[in-house]
Amino acid sequence: MDASGSQQLLDDWDDISDSEFLNIPCEEQSIDPQRPLSTETDCEHSVDFNSPRVSTSSVYNHNKEALWQEAVKTDDARGLKRKSLHDNSLSPMQRFLKRHLSVTLLCDQSWCEMKTVYSLLKPYLKRKDLQRTEVQIGADMHLSRELEIQNVVPIDIRSREDAEAIKLLNMSHMISRLEAGERVREFPVFGVQEGVFFMGVIDELMYNQKGELVLNELKTRKHNSMPSSAQDKVNCLQVGLYKLLFDGLVRGEVKKDHILNHLKLRSTQVLGAGVQAHAKSIGVQVTTFEELVDALLITVSCSDLPCIDLLQLEYYHQGSSGPIGTRVAPFNEAQLRAELQGYLAYWTGQREPKGVDIEEAWKCRSCLYEQTCDWKKNRSQVSDQQAAHASSCS
Ligand code: SF4
Repeated sequence: MDASGSQQLLDDWDDISDSEFLNIPCEEQSIDPQRPLSTETDCEHSVDFNSPRVSTSSVYNHNKEALWQEAVKTDDARGLKRKSLHDNSLSPMQRFLKRHLSVTLLCDQSWCEMKTVYSLLKPYLKRKDLQRTEVQIGADMHLSRELEIQNVVPIDIRSREDAEAIKLLNMSHMISRLEAGERVREFPVFGVQEGVFFMGVIDELMYNQKGELVLNELKTRKHNSMPSSAQDKVNCLQVGLYKLLFDGLVRGEVKKDHILNHLKLRSTQVLGAGVQAHAKSIGVQVTTFEELVDALLITVSCSDLPCIDLLQLEYYHQGSSGPIGTRVAPFNEAQLRAELQGYLAYWTGQREPKGVDIEEAWKCRSCLYEQTCDWKKNRSQVSDQQAAHASSCS
């Protein structure tokens, strides 16, 4: 089964499998600074007993947005102080109190690293951005697609371990469905890559007529056209990272300690009655979180799931809901790992964050942080000085 989390518990598995949520602006994005933030509402966990997945539309949308909000709240609750954000003795992972990184965040970073840093420093702007109409439409389209093959059943959760347990149970159930040749949607993936624990959520997995395991990533677009090469690059990175994580799982590279230690989850935590009952209903007899992790890892290692053969990006038009086009994403593991190492060098404190290169300065025009971005200001000053120097020499 697959599940959603209550607001308090969503920060750890935050990944959003759609570009609308990547804080990557459309080429012509506009932001209404007056647009109010939505009010928070209660939500409950829900699980589909027929096939993995969660929630009502409002829960789904809210959860997607709540991921960021909760990450921020959690940081606040942990006493994150501005002083510590500039403490060079700490790596950004430590400064931002991150136990893991999400695929979404890495993709965000690949668009502009400075922007990712600002989104962590100024979360209220990020929250506002997530209220954009096109983000909401994208979420609705994802939800309807998901509900085409999955129903929702609510489950009461009482702890972080309960919330993670639901996701592991969903995953376990999806593995069985995949093995039976069915398609699954919103498949969680996780694992250690280049020394950092990552999490993500794959939109769709299915076998094609050739028997290949295909990853489909749904992207919805405001405009009825394929994305720019810059956006395409980010999307290819996203599905490439999903493949690394999924393949690591089926190869048995994910260990119990990775999950418990990186996410700081309590191995002996007894799962809530609702979670235990749900586990039992799908044939998993467990009492503690550790027992569930063991059960999941056995399920994965005993499954006959192959590595992903094909990465596909499917683009849909938001206005008509019709398809725009499909693109097969290339996968070069060595190149992808080198790229990943470059991004992680920032998170592990080996270098300072970077903004966009001059050739990509157009990205700044639709950036939430354009007015305050130091990188942009410095780049403008350098350009002005170069122009002044050139005119004095002529
Ligand atoms: S203004 Fe430009 S460099 Fe600065 S965060 Fe935005 S996109 Fe990046």
